[in-house]
Amino acid sequence: MRNPDRTPIGVDLGEYNLYTACPAEMPDSRGAYTISGDELCTRLDELREGVAALLASDYDRDTVVAYVSQRRDELLEDLEDAARALCEYASAYDRPVLVTEDSHYAPDLWAWLTDPNGHRGTAWLLPMAHLRLRAVAAEYAIEVTTVPEAYSSQECHGCGVIGDRPLDKTLRCPNPDCRVDVVHADYNAAKVLAQRYSPGQRCAYRSPPPITTDERPALVADGGPRSPQEDA
Ligand SMILES: [Zn+2]
Repeated sequence: MRNPDRTPIGVDLGEYNLYTACPAEMPDSRGAYTISGDELCTRLDELREGVAALLASDYDRDTVVAYVSQRRDELLEDLEDAARALCEYASAYDRPVLVTEDSHYAPDLWAWLTDPNGHRGTAWLLPMAHLRLRAVAAEYAIEVTTVPEAYSSQECHGCGVIGDRPLDKTLRCPNPDCRVDVVHADYNAAKVLAQRYSPGQRCAYRSPPPITTDERPALVADGGPRSPQEDA
């Protein structure tokens, strides 16, 4: 059972913005907190190139492993700093709880460095960012919880309808009755995650609460109408 006295703060993880955080009640995206992932991504790309060159050279395996280990420690330090900054932000709220999506991946840096099909974010960066956030949040005595991730990056935070991604980094709500038009995708995802902490809030793709049929909000799948929300 979720604690209604807490302030749920959604945290979306990504490569462009490593962390995007905002509480469920945030009125607009200006109050969201973001930490860029650009530099970490660039360094992971460079590390992959560097390791490929080393493996193709005469260096022995131990030397390459030691090199990767050192670079990995430096990346972890930066991830730790980012997680710490996020926890400082969250600490300003009353009894915060960080709400992230389920992570299905375990960090495997070598998969990114040596697998031709390796994906930078899912292989290492995002699962490790998730792990570091949990560890640092524990130091701050901030609870971290997960909610189902399904559609969290596509669902409009204002009305629950699945939106379009017309432009990179934005989401457009197609619902004419919704006050959300175009919104930053990362902010939207963080807000959707924060909303999922509390039971009974709109979320088109999770089980509705056990209420009577009359009270039950229309599901998108039913083609039913949806009301504009106050906090778009
Ligand atoms: Zn909407």
